[in-house]
Amino acid sequence: MQYKCTRNRTEAISAAQAIVQGISADGGLFVPECLPSYSMEQLKELGNSSYTGRAMRILKDFLPEFSEEEIRECVESAYSQKKFPGGAAPLVRLPDTNMAFLELWHGPTCAFKDMALQLLPHLLTKSLKKTNCDKTAVILVATSGDTGKAALEGFRDVPDTKILVFYPEKGVSAMQQRQMNTQEGNNVSVCAIEGNFDDAQTGVKKIFTNPEIKKALDENGMLFSSANSINWGRLLPQIVYYFSAYCDAAEQGMITLGQPLNVVVPTGNFGNILAAYYAKKMGLPIKKLICASNSNNVLTEFLSTGVYDRNRTFYTTISPSMDILVSSNLERLLFDLTGGNSDLVSGWMKELNTEGRYQVGEELTAVLKDLFYSGSCDDGKTRETIGKILTEKKYLCDTHTAVAADVYAQYAKDTGDTETPAVIVSTASPYKFADSVLEAVAPGNKQDADDFLKIEQLSSLTGTKAPAPIEELKEKQVRFQNRCQVEEMPKVVLRMAGL
Ligand SMILES: *Cc1c(COP(=O)(O)O)cnc(C)c1O
Repeated sequence: MQYKCTRNRTEAISAAQAIVQGISADGGLFVPECLPSYSMEQLKELGNSSYTGRAMRILKDFLPEFSEEEIRECVESAYSQKKFPGGAAPLVRLPDTNMAFLELWHGPTCAFKDMALQLLPHLLTKSLKKTNCDKTAVILVATSGDTGKAALEGFRDVPDTKILVFYPEKGVSAMQQRQMNTQEGNNVSVCAIEGNFDDAQTGVKKIFTNPEIKKALDENGMLFSSANSINWGRLLPQIVYYFSAYCDAAEQGMITLGQPLNVVVPTGNFGNILAAYYAKKMGLPIKKLICASNSNNVLTEFLSTGVYDRNRTFYTTISPSMDILVSSNLERLLFDLTGGNSDLVSGWMKELNTEGRYQVGEELTAVLKDLFYSGSCDDGKTRETIGKILTEKKYLCDTHTAVAADVYAQYAKDTGDTETPAVIVSTASPYKFADSVLEAVAPGNKQDADDFLKIEQLSSLTGTKAPAPIEELKEKQVRFQNRCQVEEMPKVVLRMAGL
C-alpha cells in the first residue's frame, strides 16, 4: 500500500516515508491510496483477540513494509498492561440505556492522545531505519496541553529521538503544566512561551522550515520530525479502537454482529472522528458519525451547511482541547469524499488561508449531512450534563466527554433515533480537568485553591478515584522552569539539540 498526498496528484510514497515526513512539502497530508475492507467473518475473528491482537491485525494492512514481528513489538510495547493498567480501550456500558462510554484515557497521561502517542515513537524509529535514515529525530511540539504531555511520555528515553515541547504560559491548566514540567526522561525538554497557542504553533512551524536550523541539524546527524495529529502515524492507531469498541459492544450484547452502532466523538482537530469515518469505510457497521463541538462550533456549521468559516470569535472553554477553529484533518475527509480531487482540495485550503472561509458544493454538502450529525454544547450545558450523568447514572465524565454526551442527546431528540445503540467516545479522565468537573458536580461549592485538594474533594464527593499518574504528580520533582519569548524559540531549539 502506497500513500498519496491531498494536494498533489503525482506524489506516492511508502508508509514509512509518510510517517517520517509527517506532512508533504506543499503542506498536504498523506492518506492511504486505498482502504482495506473487513467482512463480518473477519470482524468476528477480531472479536476473539485482545486489544493488541486487534491492533496488530489492522496495522498490518496499512504498513506493508513492516514485518509481523515488528508490528507486534510496536503494539505490545505501546499498549502494555503497565502503560494502560485500566485496559487500552474499555467499553463501559451505562446501566438501563443503550449507551456506552469508550474510555480512551487509561494511559500514562490520562487523555486519549496516549492511544496514538504511545505507538507513534515505535512506528517512527522503525520507519527511520526503513528509509535508511540513521539520524536522530528531533520532535518539536506546540501544545495547548494534552498533546505535549502525551508526546513527552511517548518519546521519553526512546533511542535516537529528542523531544522539545513548547506550551503557552497562560494557555494550559495548572495540572497540565505540572504534568509537563515534571516530565522524566533523558531526551526531553519543555519550555513555556510568552504568548498564546497560535504563537507557539506558528513559532514551531517557522523553525521546521528555517533552512539554517535545518542545515545545522543535518550536519550534526539530526532531523526534525513531527508528532502532530496530521502525521499518519497518529491517525492509524485511532482506527483500531473503533473496531475494538464494536467487537466489545457485540460481546457485551449491546448489538449482534452486523447491527449498526452510532458513534459520538468530541471533536477538535478532526483526527478522532476521521478515524471513525475510515473505520466505517472499511466495513465497520457505523450508522451516524456524530460530531460534537463546544462553543467553537465551526464544524457544526460546516457539516450541516457546507460552509467552513473560521472568521468568528474564538472562545476559551472548559473543554480546552477542543478550542480550535482550523481542524486540520478535515482536509483528509474532503480529499476522500471528492474521489481524491487534489485540485479542489488545494483550492479550498488556499481560500481558508487567504479568506478564512470556503464553501463546498451542494452535492458534497448532501453527502456530509448523510454521513454526519453535528451539534455543539456550551460550558453551561457541559456542566449540567456532567451533573446529570452523575446523578442519574452514577457515572463521572470529563468536560470533553460531556460535550459529546449532550450532543448525542440533541441527536436523539432531533432524529428520534434512540433505537440504535451509541458509543460515546470518552477522551479524558475527569481528574485531568478536576476544577471544572468539581464545579459541575458541586456548583457554588467553594473550591480549595490547591489542585491536589480539589482532586481529593472530587474523589470524596463522587466516590471515584483519581488515576495513579495524577496522584503521583504530587510527589514529582519539577524539572523544567524554562520560559522564553516567541522570538527566542529557535535559540531554545538549538540549545536543546546541543548546538
Ligand atoms: C485532542 C482532544 C480532543 C479532540 O480530538 P481531535 O482528534 O483533535 O478531534 C478531544 N478531547 C480531548 C480530551 C483531547 O485531548
